[in-house]
Amino acid sequence: MIQQIDNFIGGELVAPAGGRYLDNFDPAVGRVYSGVADSDARDVERAVAAAHAAFAKWSATPADERCRVLFRVADIIERDLEKFALAECVDNGKPLTRARTAEIPRAVKNFRFFATALLHERSDLHVVDREALNYTLRRPRGVCGLISPWNLPLYLLTWKVAPALAVGNTAVAKPSEVTPMTARLLADACVEAGLPAGVLNIVHGSGTQAGAALVSHPAVTTISFTGGTKTGRAIAAAAAPMFKKLSLELGGKNPNLVFADADMGAAVDASVQAAFANQGQICLCGSRVYVERPAYDEFVARFVEQTRRLRVGDPLDPATQQGAMVSRVQLEKTREYVELARREGGRVLSGGGPPVELPTRCRDGYFHQPTVIVDLPPECRVNQEEIFGPVVTIAPFENEADAIKLANGTEFGLSASVFTRDVNRAHRVADAIQAGTVWVNCWLLRDLRVPFGGMKQSGVGREGGDEALRFFSETKNVCVKVG
Ligand code: NDP
Repeated sequence: MIQQIDNFIGGELVAPAGGRYLDNFDPAVGRVYSGVADSDARDVERAVAAAHAAFAKWSATPADERCRVLFRVADIIERDLEKFALAECVDNGKPLTRARTAEIPRAVKNFRFFATALLHERSDLHVVDREALNYTLRRPRGVCGLISPWNLPLYLLTWKVAPALAVGNTAVAKPSEVTPMTARLLADACVEAGLPAGVLNIVHGSGTQAGAALVSHPAVTTISFTGGTKTGRAIAAAAAPMFKKLSLELGGKNPNLVFADADMGAAVDASVQAAFANQGQICLCGSRVYVERPAYDEFVARFVEQTRRLRVGDPLDPATQQGAMVSRVQLEKTREYVELARREGGRVLSGGGPPVELPTRCRDGYFHQPTVIVDLPPECRVNQEEIFGPVVTIAPFENEADAIKLANGTEFGLSASVFTRDVNRAHRVADAIQAGTVWVNCWLLRDLRVPFGGMKQSGVGREGGDEALRFFSETKNVCVKVG
């Protein structure tokens, strides 16, 4: 009998009202390994009611106590790191080593960061001559709807849960139906940590059913969503007429600009990592690499050589660097884009299909080789649309202006990397690129204090650090006449 993942409502595990469960696949073997509640509007209703009932007490709980509970959640995840890492690996197909060393520790950090950030918040006071004082109150907003994707399931879920709860809100979270297991474990951690019942509720199920019911529920004041641009558009359309506060962290098609003066070894290392980490399924992956003409041939040769050395294999094997893709759908989508690239005139220099050798256990898993494609024009679909798989294109550029034009030449604006030894150029180019985050001579170095989000079709709003605490707060000004 396989495990059925139930909802977490009012501090208890609850079967979905309709009694139905969706299949949850282990992508490394291509087989169902658990069921997950196929929730509908009735489950959302129940979860929102629980969150609503818990709000008065939790929002009045002293910040110090909220901090202590969230810290305990972090400690429990850290203690159970192996269990969480294995769950994320089996749900998602990512290498166990990556889950263990990157994603789960980051979830722990999310809780610790926001629990303590809360204690350091300052409020503003503005004095008008000798006439009045204006002070700013920040208060929790009520029930928040938190919707997260499958690529970094626990990290992105806790990136929302931690600040929302820290501020004093209660929440209903809807994790991706594709990767529900770490959210299920998080429920246990919350109970053990003593988080009061109803403060965090987790409703599983499909986006179109459970997710849409959450977005349109009138008692949900605030929606924080991370996912695809198309879904973000649907959520914005549903939430806007109800004047909900909305944060949308959406897709990317991120450029990597390598200037000829860059440290070539470091640029190749970082670009390979940026292209293929988590099988290319990170919104911040650098999927378009542009290299200044004089360095182009050398860069491509070294990049291809390094890509070929990446070990694709069983995610449970500690030596594996590239695991399975999350689902058959995502694998098919990747294959279609590689075919499209061939039709668009692209030349595949490495990868392009399934791995040649896989252990017997993984024979039916969803694997795709890391794939490098050249000779594609910037305006073709493969260079314009988010693939979200292990596929990267490389092309030359002639000068700085050309590089900036190429970088900005898509509808997305999430992140970018620039590799150069010229510090003035680094600042100039970083300023000119339309992206919410620009890394110079690195990729994916994160600082939880900085604002995070996208420009253009990559999103609306900023989370991270103070921005997250403010997003999840209502701001009010009180003007007091003096004298
Ligand atoms: P989706 O947009 O398909 O789904 C994201 C979440 O939204 C899931 O929980 C999904 O549920 C739910 N959902 C789907 N439809 C609706 C709806 N109509 N109303 C409410 N909720 C809905 O994204 P993916 O899960 O496929 O994740 C990949 C995408 O996420 C990529 O585009 C990637 O770039 C983006 N992303 C962006 C990040 C950022 O910070 N900007 C970070 C990470 C990923 P279900 O899964 O059950 O369908």
